[in-house]
Amino acid sequence: MKVGLKLTGACPACGAGGQGCGPWQGLKRRVVMRCTKCAKAIESELSLAAYLFVCLLSTTWGVLLFGVSVVALLTGAWLLAGGAALLLWATVLLPAQLLHGGRLKIYNPYAW
Ligand SMILES: [Zn+2]
Repeated sequence: MKVGLKLTGACPACGAGGQGCGPWQGLKRRVVMRCTKCAKAIESELSLAAYLFVCLLSTTWGVLLFGVSVVALLTGAWLLAGGAALLLWATVLLPAQLLHGGRLKIYNPYAW
């Protein structure tokens, strides 16, 4: 089964695959990175709807899970801390990264 969502995309300049942003960078609307092969600046920008979705997810559910994992770490509940961190990654960071993957284009500093 082919899935349209990908973690990484191909460089629009040289076609090298595997270009993507880091898990925390995915929370931003516009991510600028460098191609690992041709070193050209490439960017990924979320649509407004996708960005609002990521914002909403990270400021409600994400903050809640982050709080749970921090409290769990402080109280020594390692299993709960690990579970909350994993859930945070799987439900917030991963979807944000997936939304960015495959939306790469050549960086244009004048786009704004
Ligand atoms: Zn490239």
